[in-house]
Amino acid sequence: MSPTVRAIAIIGSGPAGYTAALYAARANLAPLVFEGSVSSGGALMSTTGVENFPGFPGGIQGPDLMALLRQQAAEFGAELVTEDVVEVDLAPAAKRLRTESGVEYDVQAVIVATGAGYRELGLADERRLTGYGVSWCATCDGAFYKEKEVAVVGGGDSALEEALFLTRFARSVTVVHRRDTLRASAVLQDRARDNPRISFAWNKEIIGLRGQDRLTGVQLADARSGDLSEVPADGLFVAIGHLPRSDLFRDQLELTAGGHIRVQSPTTATSVPGVFACGDVVDALYRQAITAAGSGCAAALDAQRFLAGLETPVAGSGFRPTGTVASRPAEPVRPATEEATMVRGSAVETVTDASFAGEVLDHDKPVLVDFWATWCSACQLMFPALADFAREYEGLIAVKKVDVDESPVTAEKYDIGSMPTLKLFRGGEVVHTIVGAKTKSSLVAELSQFLPARTP
Ligand code: NAP
Repeated sequence: MSPTVRAIAIIGSGPAGYTAALYAARANLAPLVFEGSVSSGGALMSTTGVENFPGFPGGIQGPDLMALLRQQAAEFGAELVTEDVVEVDLAPAAKRLRTESGVEYDVQAVIVATGAGYRELGLADERRLTGYGVSWCATCDGAFYKEKEVAVVGGGDSALEEALFLTRFARSVTVVHRRDTLRASAVLQDRARDNPRISFAWNKEIIGLRGQDRLTGVQLADARSGDLSEVPADGLFVAIGHLPRSDLFRDQLELTAGGHIRVQSPTTATSVPGVFACGDVVDALYRQAITAAGSGCAAALDAQRFLAGLETPVAGSGFRPTGTVASRPAEPVRPATEEATMVRGSAVETVTDASFAGEVLDHDKPVLVDFWATWCSACQLMFPALADFAREYEGLIAVKKVDVDESPVTAEKYDIGSMPTLKLFRGGEVVHTIVGAKTKSSLVAELSQFLPARTP
Protein backbone atom coordinates (compact mmCIF):
# COMPACT_ATOMS: atom_id res chain seq x y z
CA MET A 1 0.00 0.00 0.00
CA SER A 2 1.19 3.51 -0.69
CA PRO A 3 2.76 5.37 2.21
CA THR A 4 0.43 8.03 3.55
CA VAL A 5 0.71 10.81 6.04
CA ARG A 6 -2.27 12.16 7.90
CA ALA A 7 -2.49 15.86 8.70
CA ILE A 8 -3.52 15.56 12.30
CA ALA A 9 -4.10 13.03 15.06
CA ILE A 10 -5.90 13.69 18.33
CA ILE A 11 -5.07 11.44 21.25
CA GLY A 12 -7.91 11.35 23.75
CA SER A 13 -11.65 11.66 23.67
CA GLY A 14 -13.01 13.77 26.48
CA PRO A 15 -14.60 17.16 25.79
CA ALA A 16 -11.17 18.52 24.76
CA GLY A 17 -10.44 15.73 22.27
CA TYR A 18 -13.86 15.73 20.61
CA THR A 19 -13.98 19.53 20.37
CA ALA A 20 -10.51 19.57 18.77
CA ALA A 21 -11.79 16.84 16.42
CA LEU A 22 -14.88 18.85 15.52
CA TYR A 23 -12.85 21.96 14.65
CA ALA A 24 -10.17 20.02 12.75
CA ALA A 25 -12.84 18.11 10.83
CA ARG A 26 -14.65 21.32 9.89
CA ALA A 27 -11.30 22.63 8.62
CA ASN A 28 -11.31 19.64 6.24
CA LEU A 29 -8.31 18.02 7.93
CA ALA A 30 -10.00 14.61 8.42
CA PRO A 31 -8.49 14.16 11.88
CA LEU A 32 -7.78 10.76 13.32
CA VAL A 33 -9.11 10.51 16.86
CA PHE A 34 -7.62 7.84 19.09
CA GLU A 35 -10.44 7.37 21.54
CA GLY A 36 -8.73 4.80 23.68
CA SER A 37 -10.20 1.33 23.70
CA VAL A 38 -11.69 1.63 27.17
CA SER A 39 -11.49 5.30 28.02
CA SER A 40 -13.58 6.80 25.24
CA GLY A 41 -15.49 9.78 26.55
CA GLY A 42 -13.11 10.52 29.40
CA ALA A 43 -14.10 11.36 32.95
CA LEU A 44 -17.62 12.49 32.01
CA MET A 45 -18.50 8.87 31.20
CA SER A 46 -18.57 8.13 34.92
CA THR A 47 -20.36 11.35 35.88
CA THR A 48 -24.07 11.71 36.47
CA GLY A 49 -25.90 14.93 35.74
CA VAL A 50 -23.85 17.78 34.28
CA GLU A 51 -25.60 21.03 35.13
CA ASN A 52 -22.94 23.54 34.13
CA PHE A 53 -22.25 22.82 30.49
CA PRO A 54 -23.78 25.81 28.67
CA GLY A 55 -26.64 25.05 26.34
CA PHE A 56 -28.28 22.36 28.44
CA PRO A 57 -30.79 24.01 30.76
CA GLY A 58 -32.01 21.27 33.07
CA GLY A 59 -28.69 19.48 32.75
CA ILE A 60 -27.55 16.47 30.78
CA GLN A 61 -26.09 13.11 31.78
CA GLY A 62 -22.29 12.94 31.32
CA PRO A 63 -22.34 9.94 28.93
CA ASP A 64 -25.11 11.58 26.86
CA LEU A 65 -23.09 14.76 26.52
CA MET A 66 -20.07 12.78 25.38
CA ALA A 67 -22.16 10.80 22.89
CA LEU A 68 -23.36 14.10 21.36
CA LEU A 69 -19.85 15.57 21.15
CA ARG A 70 -18.60 12.34 19.58
CA GLN A 71 -21.44 12.24 17.07
CA GLN A 72 -20.91 15.87 16.08
CA ALA A 73 -17.18 15.32 15.46
CA ALA A 74 -17.86 12.14 13.45
CA GLU A 75 -20.56 13.82 11.34
CA PHE A 76 -18.02 16.38 10.16
CA GLY A 77 -15.53 13.69 9.16
CA ALA A 78 -13.40 12.90 12.22
CA GLU A 79 -12.18 9.32 11.97
CA LEU A 80 -12.61 7.57 15.30
CA VAL A 81 -10.24 4.77 16.23
CA THR A 82 -11.16 2.83 19.37
CA GLU A 83 -7.60 2.00 20.31
CA ASP A 84 -5.00 3.25 22.74
CA VAL A 85 -1.85 4.90 21.48
CA VAL A 86 0.96 3.12 23.32
CA GLU A 87 4.06 4.67 21.77
CA VAL A 88 4.82 8.06 20.26
CA ASP A 89 7.77 9.55 18.44
CA LEU A 90 7.14 13.29 18.37
CA ALA A 91 10.27 14.31 16.47
CA PRO A 92 9.76 17.83 15.09
CA ALA A 93 9.61 16.82 11.40
CA ALA A 94 7.67 13.54 11.38
CA LYS A 95 5.49 12.24 14.14
CA ARG A 96 4.71 8.57 14.48
CA LEU A 97 2.08 6.98 16.72
CA ARG A 98 1.72 3.27 17.41
CA THR A 99 -1.43 1.70 18.80
CA GLU A 100 -1.69 -1.34 21.04
CA SER A 101 -2.48 -3.55 18.07
CA GLY A 102 0.81 -2.49 16.48
CA VAL A 103 -0.56 -0.23 13.73
CA GLU A 104 1.58 2.83 13.07
CA TYR A 105 0.34 6.19 11.91
CA ASP A 106 2.43 9.08 10.61
CA VAL A 107 1.04 12.53 11.11
CA GLN A 108 2.16 16.12 10.73
CA ALA A 109 0.51 17.47 13.87
CA VAL A 110 -0.61 15.91 17.13
CA ILE A 111 -3.11 17.17 19.68
CA VAL A 112 -2.72 15.56 23.10
CA ALA A 113 -6.02 15.45 25.03
CA THR A 114 -5.45 12.45 27.27
CA GLY A 115 -7.11 13.96 30.35
CA ALA A 116 -6.44 12.81 33.87
CA GLY A 117 -6.85 9.55 35.77
CA TYR A 118 -8.10 8.90 39.29
CA ARG A 119 -5.75 9.67 42.17
CA GLU A 120 -5.31 6.83 44.65
CA LEU A 121 -5.04 7.10 48.43
CA GLY A 122 -1.85 5.02 48.39
CA LEU A 123 -2.95 2.65 51.17
CA ALA A 124 -1.54 -0.86 51.33
CA ASP A 125 -4.90 -2.63 50.87
CA GLU A 126 -6.42 -0.24 48.34
CA ARG A 127 -5.70 -2.35 45.25
CA ARG A 128 -6.49 -5.65 46.98
CA LEU A 129 -9.96 -4.43 47.98
CA THR A 130 -10.75 -2.71 44.68
CA GLY A 131 -13.94 -4.36 43.48
CA TYR A 132 -14.52 -5.70 46.97
CA GLY A 133 -15.70 -2.49 48.56
CA VAL A 134 -13.23 0.06 47.22
CA SER A 135 -14.37 1.95 44.12
CA TRP A 136 -13.65 5.08 42.11
CA CYS A 137 -17.00 5.26 40.38
CA ALA A 138 -20.36 5.61 42.12
CA THR A 139 -22.31 5.51 38.87
CA CYS A 140 -20.64 2.18 38.02
CA ASP A 141 -20.82 0.48 41.40
CA GLY A 142 -23.34 2.38 43.54
CA ALA A 143 -26.20 -0.01 42.79
CA PHE A 144 -24.35 -2.76 44.67
CA TYR A 145 -24.71 -0.81 47.92
CA LYS A 146 -28.46 -0.89 48.47
CA GLU A 147 -29.20 -0.23 52.16
CA LYS A 148 -25.46 -0.46 52.97
CA GLU A 149 -23.16 1.95 54.77
CA VAL A 150 -20.67 3.68 52.53
CA ALA A 151 -17.95 6.30 52.89
CA VAL A 152 -16.70 8.79 50.31
CA VAL A 153 -13.29 10.37 50.71
CA GLY A 154 -12.59 13.86 49.36
CA GLY A 155 -13.93 17.37 49.68
CA GLY A 156 -14.30 18.50 46.07
CA ASP A 157 -17.15 18.47 43.54
CA SER A 158 -16.49 14.84 42.64
CA ALA A 159 -16.75 13.65 46.25
CA LEU A 160 -20.05 15.43 46.85
CA GLU A 161 -21.47 14.31 43.52
CA GLU A 162 -20.57 10.73 44.37
CA ALA A 163 -22.05 11.08 47.86
CA LEU A 164 -25.31 12.53 46.55
CA PHE A 165 -25.61 9.83 43.90
CA LEU A 166 -24.94 7.11 46.45
CA THR A 167 -27.85 8.26 48.63
CA ARG A 168 -30.14 6.70 45.99
CA PHE A 169 -28.96 3.31 47.24
CA ALA A 170 -27.05 3.44 50.50
CA ARG A 171 -28.57 3.70 53.94
CA SER A 172 -25.87 6.15 55.03
CA VAL A 173 -23.04 8.00 53.34
CA THR A 174 -20.14 9.42 55.36
CA VAL A 175 -18.00 11.99 53.59
CA VAL A 176 -14.49 11.79 55.01
CA HIS A 177 -12.53 14.97 54.44
CA ARG A 178 -9.08 15.90 55.65
CA ARG A 179 -10.02 19.50 56.44
CA ASP A 180 -13.07 21.25 57.90
CA THR A 181 -13.98 23.20 54.79
CA LEU A 182 -15.01 21.78 51.48
CA ARG A 183 -13.57 22.69 48.11
CA ALA A 184 -16.79 21.76 46.30
CA SER A 185 -19.10 24.34 44.71
CA ALA A 186 -21.69 25.98 46.97
CA VAL A 187 -24.65 24.35 45.25
CA LEU A 188 -23.30 20.84 45.87
CA GLN A 189 -22.34 21.72 49.45
CA ASP A 190 -25.89 22.88 50.16
CA ARG A 191 -27.41 19.77 48.64
CA ALA A 192 -25.10 17.45 50.57
CA ARG A 193 -25.68 19.24 53.89
CA ASP A 194 -29.44 19.11 53.33
CA ASN A 195 -29.43 15.40 52.59
CA PRO A 196 -30.36 13.41 55.72
CA ARG A 197 -28.43 10.35 54.56
CA ILE A 198 -25.13 12.24 54.32
CA SER A 199 -22.90 12.96 57.31
CA PHE A 200 -19.39 14.36 57.45
CA ALA A 201 -16.22 13.18 59.20
CA TRP A 202 -14.24 16.41 59.31
CA ASN A 203 -10.45 16.67 59.65
CA LYS A 204 -10.02 12.96 59.17
CA GLU A 205 -7.46 11.11 57.13
CA ILE A 206 -7.96 7.50 56.12
CA ILE A 207 -4.98 5.56 57.38
CA GLY A 208 -6.15 2.00 56.83
CA LEU A 209 -8.82 -0.26 55.38
CA ARG A 210 -10.48 -3.05 57.35
CA GLY A 211 -11.61 -6.32 55.84
CA GLN A 212 -10.19 -9.58 54.58
CA ASP A 213 -12.26 -10.58 51.54
CA ARG A 214 -14.37 -7.43 51.49
CA LEU A 215 -14.14 -3.98 52.99
CA THR A 216 -15.80 -3.71 56.39
CA GLY A 217 -14.59 -0.32 57.60
CA VAL A 218 -12.07 2.49 57.33
CA GLN A 219 -9.58 3.53 59.99
CA LEU A 220 -9.29 7.26 60.54
CA ALA A 221 -6.77 9.55 62.17
CA ASP A 222 -7.73 13.05 63.25
CA ALA A 223 -5.64 15.48 61.21
CA ARG A 224 -5.19 17.77 64.23
CA SER A 225 -5.02 15.58 67.32
CA GLY A 226 -3.91 12.31 65.74
CA ASP A 227 -6.73 10.50 67.59
CA LEU A 228 -7.70 7.22 65.95
CA SER A 229 -11.24 6.14 65.15
CA GLU A 230 -13.09 3.86 62.79
CA VAL A 231 -16.12 4.11 60.52
CA PRO A 232 -17.94 0.93 59.49
CA ALA A 233 -18.23 0.86 55.71
CA ASP A 234 -19.30 -1.72 53.15
CA GLY A 235 -18.04 0.58 50.43
CA LEU A 236 -15.42 3.32 50.10
CA PHE A 237 -15.61 5.63 47.10
CA VAL A 238 -12.36 7.47 46.48
CA ALA A 239 -12.81 10.94 44.96
CA ILE A 240 -9.62 12.81 45.79
CA GLY A 241 -8.86 14.35 42.44
CA HIS A 242 -6.96 13.31 39.39
CA LEU A 243 -3.45 12.97 38.00
CA PRO A 244 -2.66 14.11 34.46
CA ARG A 245 -2.22 11.24 32.00
CA SER A 246 1.10 12.43 30.62
CA ASP A 247 3.32 9.37 31.10
CA LEU A 248 3.37 8.54 27.42
CA PHE A 249 4.95 11.91 26.68
CA ARG A 250 7.28 12.17 29.67
CA ASP A 251 10.51 11.84 27.70
CA GLN A 252 9.44 13.95 24.76
CA LEU A 253 7.40 16.90 25.98
CA GLU A 254 8.22 19.37 28.71
CA LEU A 255 6.05 18.73 31.79
CA THR A 256 5.34 20.83 34.87
CA ALA A 257 6.38 19.69 38.35
CA GLY A 258 2.83 18.34 38.80
CA GLY A 259 3.12 16.23 35.64
CA HIS A 260 0.91 18.41 33.42
CA ILE A 261 2.08 19.06 29.86
CA ARG A 262 3.59 22.53 29.71
CA VAL A 263 2.08 24.76 27.01
CA GLN A 264 3.07 28.20 25.78
CA SER A 265 0.07 29.93 27.26
CA PRO A 266 -2.23 31.42 25.98
CA THR A 267 -1.61 29.04 23.06
CA THR A 268 -1.71 25.24 23.30
CA ALA A 269 1.77 24.79 21.78
CA THR A 270 3.99 22.35 23.68
CA SER A 271 7.79 22.23 23.73
CA VAL A 272 7.79 20.33 20.39
CA PRO A 273 6.68 22.11 17.20
CA GLY A 274 3.53 20.57 15.78
CA VAL A 275 2.43 19.06 19.09
CA PHE A 276 -0.40 20.76 20.97
CA ALA A 277 -2.04 19.86 24.26
CA CYS A 278 -5.40 20.69 25.81
CA GLY A 279 -7.88 19.71 28.51
CA ASP A 280 -7.09 18.18 31.88
CA VAL A 281 -3.64 16.92 30.86
CA VAL A 282 -2.64 20.61 30.75
CA ASP A 283 -4.98 22.23 33.23
CA ALA A 284 -4.24 22.19 36.94
CA LEU A 285 -6.54 25.14 37.66
CA TYR A 286 -10.00 25.08 36.09
CA ARG A 287 -10.62 21.42 35.12
CA GLN A 288 -14.16 21.90 33.88
CA ALA A 289 -15.78 20.18 30.92
CA ILE A 290 -16.39 23.55 29.31
CA THR A 291 -12.81 24.81 29.78
CA ALA A 292 -11.54 21.51 28.39
CA ALA A 293 -13.79 21.91 25.36
CA GLY A 294 -12.59 25.50 24.92
CA SER A 295 -8.96 24.49 25.02
CA GLY A 296 -9.67 21.69 22.53
CA CYS A 297 -10.99 24.33 20.15
CA ALA A 298 -7.83 26.42 20.69
CA ALA A 299 -5.60 23.39 20.05
CA ALA A 300 -7.32 22.67 16.73
CA LEU A 301 -6.93 26.30 15.65
CA ASP A 302 -3.25 26.29 16.72
CA ALA A 303 -2.67 23.04 14.81
CA GLN A 304 -4.38 24.46 11.73
CA ARG A 305 -2.08 27.46 11.80
CA PHE A 306 0.93 25.20 12.19
CA LEU A 307 -0.13 22.99 9.26
CA ALA A 308 -0.75 25.99 7.04
CA GLY A 309 2.85 27.06 7.61
CA LEU A 310 4.33 23.73 6.52
CA GLU A 311 6.05 23.43 3.16
CA THR A 312 4.14 20.25 2.31
CA PRO A 313 0.89 20.42 4.18
CA VAL A 314 -1.45 17.47 3.92
CA ALA A 315 -4.49 19.42 2.90
CA GLY A 316 -8.09 19.23 1.79
CA SER A 317 -9.79 15.90 2.00
CA GLY A 318 -7.50 14.63 4.66
CA PHE A 319 -4.49 12.68 3.53
CA ARG A 320 -2.52 11.94 0.41
CA PRO A 321 0.85 10.32 -0.19
CA THR A 322 3.77 12.67 0.35
CA GLY A 323 6.64 10.25 0.40
CA THR A 324 8.29 12.33 3.09
CA VAL A 325 7.66 9.82 5.86
CA ALA A 326 7.05 6.10 5.70
CA SER A 327 3.74 5.21 7.20
CA ARG A 328 0.90 2.74 7.28
CA PRO A 329 -2.64 3.74 6.47
CA ALA A 330 -5.32 4.09 9.06
CA GLU A 331 -7.38 1.08 10.06
CA PRO A 332 -11.03 1.37 9.10
CA VAL A 333 -13.15 2.90 11.82
CA ARG A 334 -15.25 0.45 13.77
CA PRO A 335 -18.00 2.28 15.60
CA ALA A 336 -18.38 1.19 19.20
CA THR A 337 -22.04 0.30 18.65
CA GLU A 338 -21.16 -2.10 15.83
CA GLU A 339 -18.58 -3.77 18.04
CA ALA A 340 -21.06 -3.99 20.85
CA THR A 341 -23.46 -5.85 18.57
CA MET A 342 -20.71 -8.24 17.58
CA VAL A 343 -19.91 -8.91 21.18
CA ARG A 344 -23.50 -9.87 21.84
CA GLY A 345 -23.37 -12.13 18.79
CA SER A 346 -21.50 -15.34 18.35
CA ALA A 347 -18.04 -14.28 19.59
CA VAL A 348 -19.19 -13.49 23.11
CA GLU A 349 -22.37 -15.30 24.07
CA THR A 350 -24.60 -14.29 26.92
CA VAL A 351 -25.13 -16.84 29.67
CA THR A 352 -27.80 -16.64 32.35
CA ASP A 353 -28.51 -18.08 35.79
CA ALA A 354 -30.13 -21.02 34.02
CA SER A 355 -27.34 -21.75 31.54
CA PHE A 356 -24.30 -20.81 33.64
CA ALA A 357 -23.50 -24.28 34.95
CA GLY A 358 -23.68 -25.95 31.56
CA GLU A 359 -21.96 -23.23 29.55
CA VAL A 360 -19.30 -22.14 32.03
CA LEU A 361 -18.74 -24.58 34.89
CA ASP A 362 -18.92 -27.72 32.74
CA HIS A 363 -17.05 -26.27 29.77
CA ASP A 364 -14.06 -28.31 28.63
CA LYS A 365 -12.03 -25.16 27.95
CA PRO A 366 -11.21 -22.18 30.16
CA VAL A 367 -14.03 -19.62 30.10
CA LEU A 368 -13.58 -15.88 30.62
CA VAL A 369 -16.84 -14.44 31.98
CA ASP A 370 -17.56 -10.72 31.73
CA PHE A 371 -20.02 -9.60 34.43
CA TRP A 372 -21.59 -6.40 33.09
CA ALA A 373 -24.68 -4.20 33.34
CA THR A 374 -26.64 -2.14 30.85
CA TRP A 375 -26.15 0.96 33.02
CA CYS A 376 -22.36 0.58 33.15
CA SER A 377 -20.77 2.74 30.46
CA ALA A 378 -17.28 1.37 31.19
CA CYS A 379 -18.61 -2.15 30.53
CA GLN A 380 -19.91 -1.14 27.15
CA LEU A 381 -16.71 0.69 26.26
CA MET A 382 -14.85 -2.53 26.93
CA PHE A 383 -16.90 -4.57 24.45
CA PRO A 384 -14.58 -4.00 21.48
CA ALA A 385 -11.55 -5.14 23.49
CA LEU A 386 -13.43 -8.22 24.67
CA ALA A 387 -14.60 -9.04 21.15
CA ASP A 388 -11.02 -8.75 19.85
CA PHE A 389 -9.82 -10.99 22.66
CA ALA A 390 -12.55 -13.57 21.91
CA ARG A 391 -11.66 -13.60 18.22
CA GLU A 392 -7.95 -13.94 18.89
CA TYR A 393 -8.36 -16.89 21.28
CA GLU A 394 -11.31 -18.54 19.53
CA GLY A 395 -11.19 -22.31 19.99
CA LEU A 396 -8.73 -22.02 22.87
CA ILE A 397 -10.65 -20.05 25.44
CA ALA A 398 -14.37 -19.27 25.52
CA VAL A 399 -15.60 -15.77 26.35
CA LYS A 400 -19.08 -15.31 27.83
CA LYS A 401 -21.09 -12.48 29.32
CA VAL A 402 -23.42 -12.28 32.29
CA ASP A 403 -25.79 -9.33 32.65
CA VAL A 404 -25.85 -8.94 36.45
CA ASP A 405 -29.41 -7.59 36.46
CA GLU A 406 -30.71 -10.45 34.32
CA SER A 407 -28.79 -13.09 36.29
CA PRO A 408 -28.70 -11.90 39.90
CA VAL A 409 -28.16 -15.37 41.39
CA THR A 410 -24.89 -15.88 39.52
CA ALA A 411 -23.76 -12.31 40.22
CA GLU A 412 -24.38 -12.79 43.93
CA LYS A 413 -22.80 -16.22 44.04
CA TYR A 414 -19.56 -14.80 42.63
CA ASP A 415 -19.75 -11.71 44.85
CA ILE A 416 -19.76 -9.19 42.01
CA GLY A 417 -19.43 -5.73 43.55
CA SER A 418 -17.88 -3.65 40.80
CA MET A 419 -18.48 -3.11 37.11
CA PRO A 420 -17.08 -4.59 35.00
CA THR A 421 -15.64 -7.70 36.69
CA LEU A 422 -14.12 -10.52 34.66
CA LYS A 423 -13.56 -13.99 36.04
CA LEU A 424 -11.62 -16.79 34.43
CA PHE A 425 -13.09 -20.24 35.11
CA ARG A 426 -11.18 -23.47 34.63
CA GLY A 427 -12.71 -26.84 35.53
CA GLY A 428 -15.62 -25.07 37.18
CA GLU A 429 -13.40 -22.99 39.50
CA VAL A 430 -12.49 -19.31 39.41
CA VAL A 431 -8.75 -19.12 38.79
CA HIS A 432 -8.41 -15.37 38.23
CA THR A 433 -10.43 -12.18 38.74
CA ILE A 434 -9.99 -8.85 36.98
CA VAL A 435 -11.83 -5.75 38.16
CA GLY A 436 -12.30 -2.70 35.94
CA ALA A 437 -12.30 -2.02 32.22
CA LYS A 438 -9.21 -3.22 30.36
CA THR A 439 -7.70 -2.91 26.93
CA LYS A 440 -7.18 -6.08 24.94
CA SER A 441 -3.42 -5.99 25.51
CA SER A 442 -3.83 -5.60 29.28
CA LEU A 443 -6.32 -8.49 29.30
CA VAL A 444 -3.76 -10.64 27.51
CA ALA A 445 -1.01 -9.52 29.91
CA GLU A 446 -3.09 -10.23 33.03
CA LEU A 447 -4.22 -13.62 31.79
CA SER A 448 -0.94 -14.65 30.17
CA GLN A 449 -0.22 -17.47 32.62
CA PHE A 450 -3.62 -19.04 31.89
CA LEU A 451 -3.70 -18.62 28.11
CA PRO A 452 -3.04 -21.70 26.05
CA ALA A 453 -0.15 -21.45 23.58
CA ARG A 454 -1.27 -20.76 20.04
CA THR A 455 0.19 -22.54 17.09
CA PRO A 456 1.33 -20.00 14.53
P1 NAP B 1 -10.46 18.37 43.49
O1 NAP B 1 -11.29 19.58 43.28
O2 NAP B 1 -9.00 18.45 43.24
O3 NAP B 1 -10.72 17.86 44.96
C1 NAP B 1 -10.01 16.79 45.48
C2 NAP B 1 -10.38 16.65 46.94
O4 NAP B 1 -9.70 15.52 47.46
C3 NAP B 1 -9.98 17.85 47.79
O5 NAP B 1 -10.98 18.14 48.71
C4 NAP B 1 -8.71 17.37 48.47
O6 NAP B 1 -8.55 17.90 49.76
C5 NAP B 1 -8.94 15.90 48.58
N1 NAP B 1 -7.69 15.14 48.55
C6 NAP B 1 -6.67 15.21 47.66
N2 NAP B 1 -5.72 14.31 47.94
C7 NAP B 1 -6.13 13.66 49.05
C8 NAP B 1 -5.59 12.60 49.82
N3 NAP B 1 -4.42 12.03 49.48
N4 NAP B 1 -6.29 12.18 50.88
C9 NAP B 1 -7.49 12.74 51.21
N5 NAP B 1 -8.05 13.73 50.51
C10 NAP B 1 -7.39 14.19 49.43
O7 NAP B 1 -10.96 17.14 42.57
P2 NAP B 1 -12.42 16.79 42.04
O8 NAP B 1 -13.42 16.91 43.09
O9 NAP B 1 -12.24 15.49 41.34
O10 NAP B 1 -12.70 17.92 40.97
C11 NAP B 1 -11.78 18.11 39.87
C12 NAP B 1 -12.27 19.23 38.98
O11 NAP B 1 -13.43 18.79 38.29
C13 NAP B 1 -12.64 20.46 39.79
O12 NAP B 1 -12.27 21.58 39.05
C14 NAP B 1 -14.14 20.37 39.86
O13 NAP B 1 -14.75 21.64 39.96
C15 NAP B 1 -14.49 19.67 38.56
N6 NAP B 1 -15.73 18.92 38.74
C16 NAP B 1 -16.87 19.58 38.51
C17 NAP B 1 -18.08 18.95 38.68
C18 NAP B 1 -19.33 19.72 38.41
O14 NAP B 1 -19.25 20.89 38.18
N7 NAP B 1 -20.49 19.12 38.42
C19 NAP B 1 -18.12 17.62 39.11
C20 NAP B 1 -16.94 16.97 39.37
C21 NAP B 1 -15.73 17.63 39.20
P3 NAP B 1 -8.22 19.45 50.01
O15 NAP B 1 -9.49 20.16 49.76
O16 NAP B 1 -7.78 19.46 51.43
O17 NAP B 1 -7.12 19.77 49.05
